[in-house]
Parts: sequence; C-alpha cells; structure tokens
Amino acid sequence: MTHHLRSGLYDTSPLYQNAVLDLETAARVMDLNPGVLERLRMPKKAMCVSIPVRMDDGSVKTFEGYRVQHSTTLGPGKGGIRFHPEVNLSEVSALAMLMTMKCSLVGLPLGGAKGGIRVDPSQLSRAEQQALTRRFTMEIISMIGPEQDIPAPDVGTDGQHMAWMMDTYSMAKGHAVPGVVTGKPIEIGGSLGRPESTGRGVVYVIEHAIELLKKQNKANYSMKSMTAAVHGFGKVGAVAAHELAIRGCKVVAVSDFYGAIHNKNGLNVDEVQAYMNKNRTLKGYPNAEAISNEDLLALNVDILVPAAIDGVITKANMKNIKAKIISEGANGPITSEAQQYLEQNGCYIIPDILANAGGVIVSYFEWVQGLQQFFWNEKEVNEKLAEIMARAFNRVAGNAERYKTGMKTAALITSVERLSQAMLLRGLFP
Ligand code: GLU
Repeated sequence: MTHHLRSGLYDTSPLYQNAVLDLETAARVMDLNPGVLERLRMPKKAMCVSIPVRMDDGSVKTFEGYRVQHSTTLGPGKGGIRFHPEVNLSEVSALAMLMTMKCSLVGLPLGGAKGGIRVDPSQLSRAEQQALTRRFTMEIISMIGPEQDIPAPDVGTDGQHMAWMMDTYSMAKGHAVPGVVTGKPIEIGGSLGRPESTGRGVVYVIEHAIELLKKQNKANYSMKSMTAAVHGFGKVGAVAAHELAIRGCKVVAVSDFYGAIHNKNGLNVDEVQAYMNKNRTLKGYPNAEAISNEDLLALNVDILVPAAIDGVITKANMKNIKAKIISEGANGPITSEAQQYLEQNGCYIIPDILANAGGVIVSYFEWVQGLQQFFWNEKEVNEKLAEIMARAFNRVAGNAERYKTGMKTAALITSVERLSQAMLLRGLFP
C-alpha cells in the first residue's frame, strides 16, 4: 500500500490517525482498489466558521465551528453536531469518516458528515446556547439541507438544539423545513424512539454477540448471569444501562464527567436515573461507592460499554481491561493499538460503527417519515431498528469469519464493500 505525506490539515488528531489506520488495515485485508482508499482518506468538503455570540453580560465571545462532509456518494451527508471544548477540525473530520462507514455498513442511502463547536456548553446559559446554535446554522447554511447534509444531536447537543437549527434554517427558506435535521422533538416532526435508539442498539448487538459466541462454542454466556459497567451516563449510556438491567444483567457501575459509582450487588438503574435527573450529576449518589472513571474501565465485569467520548481505552490502560464483551457506545472510545491488544487477548469488541448505529438508523427513519408526512408508532420504529441492526451484525460476523479478522476490521470491510461498489459505479468526475 502506498503511503503518502500526511495531510497537514486533517491529520493532526489521534482520532483521525486511528481512523485512517483502521481503514488501511481493512483495505489491506480486503484488497481494496487503491484509488478508492485514496479518496476515502480525506473528507470531501470542510467548512470552518467563527461564531460571535453576545453573552448575557453584554460582552462578545467568538467560538470556532466546523461542518465536514466526508462522503456524499451514497446520499446526503449525515451526522451529528458536537458541542465540546476539545472539538477541532481534525476530530470532526475523523467523526465524519466514521459516519460514512456507519451509514454504509447498515445500508442507509446516506453519506457521512459531522459538525461541532469548540465550546463547553455547561458554561453557557440557555439563551447563549440558542444564539450560538442559530448563528452557527446561518454560517453553515450553504452546506446543509434535506437533500444535501442533515445534522443531528451528538455529544453536548439534544433535541432543543435541533429545534433551533430547524427554525433558523426554516426562517431563511421562508417555510418549515423539518427534514434539515433529525433528532428533533416529536412536536416538530421527530420520530418516536429516536432518543433511545442509540442505547437500544448498543444492547441489541450485545445480545447478538452472546448468541454467536454460544453458536461458535466459544462461550456460554447469558445476560442474566452477567455483570456490566457503563462509562458515561448520558443520552447513550443511560439508555444502555437501562436496557441491560431490564434483560436481567447486573449493572454494577456507571459514570459521568465527575466520576463513577459502583455497587457490586448491582445498581438500581431507575433510581440512578432519578438521582441524575434531579442533581444533574451522579456525584453523591447514596447507594454506591464513589470510584474514578479509570477504576470503572478496569472493573472485573463481563460487559463494558464505553459510551462517553473517544480515546478512553488506550495503550496506557489497555492491560487493565477485564471485560469479555465491549460494545462501543461512543465513537472511537478504543484506539487501534488497544483494540488489537484486547482482541488478541480474547475480548470481543463490537465496534462503534456497528454498535452505536441505532441513532443514525432511527435518524434515517425520522427523515423518511418526515418526507412522507406519515409517522410510525414506537413499536414499528423499534422493530425496524432491531431488524437492520441484526442484519448488519450478521453481515459483519460473516465477514469476520470469511477474512479471519476481529469485528472492527470486518465492520469496515462490510461498509467499504458497499461504498466502493457505489464509488466505482458512479466513477470519478470529470
Ligand atoms: N451523532 C450520532 C452518531 O454519531 C447520530 C448521527 C445522526 O443521527 O445523524 O452516530
């Protein structure tokens, strides 16, 4: 495989370097057309904007914002908007690449994109967040649209941010355009089941993994006799913890930004959720001992769900990990090096682009429902979600078998197979 000079613009973050490394590994194993690999190494288009905001105290602060489209071969760009103090062009570009792979893997007619603002949203008032979101939307308006590129929530954003984006875009167009974003509140065209979809999918694939390991005579697990730790108790982690608990799995630890809580007899997830809703943090939760996030990752549990942020399992702590199954709720929580080490040591890793695809799958359902102005009930949404996740899991497991690789490489192969066929059919312009 030919190695090029690194891109100075995109290639500066570990997340991007890992994403390219993983892609190169998959390309090598599947013997990918080098022209296709060359194109996929870099995003199609990126926009950097400055976002001035009048703060509540009358001063003006400027924030950095980005929207990156990695690929639009299969359809409009798709991917969330992240509000986080570490956001930068390279990280957003890596996340856009993951979205391309995710959408292709699960068979959606969508490309990959991502956006973000370098900001700590917990430091802004609601009014400041609204001003920030609206000005950002206006700055990137030439790039987004229902047929062009469709944002959604990600770390630090939710349905309210999507409502502001939808309203700003609609004001500019002169009529309501609900299809410009997904993850909207139900009242303005959101889909039932969208807020829970990512966390649900994270657990569906754990069930498939347990079944498969049993079929292959590799392990005889049952959810009812397993323990789990969930890193991050937000939009993804909290739902995953709940879904694990209702299946009889003992959730012994969960965490937020400030630290983790641990109870070896199992946490009452509903009670933890109620505490979180009331206090906005897990800190001080009474029926558990306080441990650090690092301690949580190293717990002797069967299932680990890293559902907070990227880069939490690395060379530095990979030797401490004891979980047998890891389902990546976050994007990029395990570095390439740590993933290889853990897989070699018998850990079954269900990679992000498969494990957390539930979110973008139901985003796709939301987009389709909006275009048809015909809305489904939650049972229908969940059944269709489960069906797509099961199909994707089986295709990835099939490729893992066929190419004798771990699930991460197999997932990338599965998605690049579909994408490269589409790229080669469409051909290179001009
Ligand atoms: N931000 C989510 C992700 O990383 C969802 C993206 C979407 O729904 O478009 O997959």
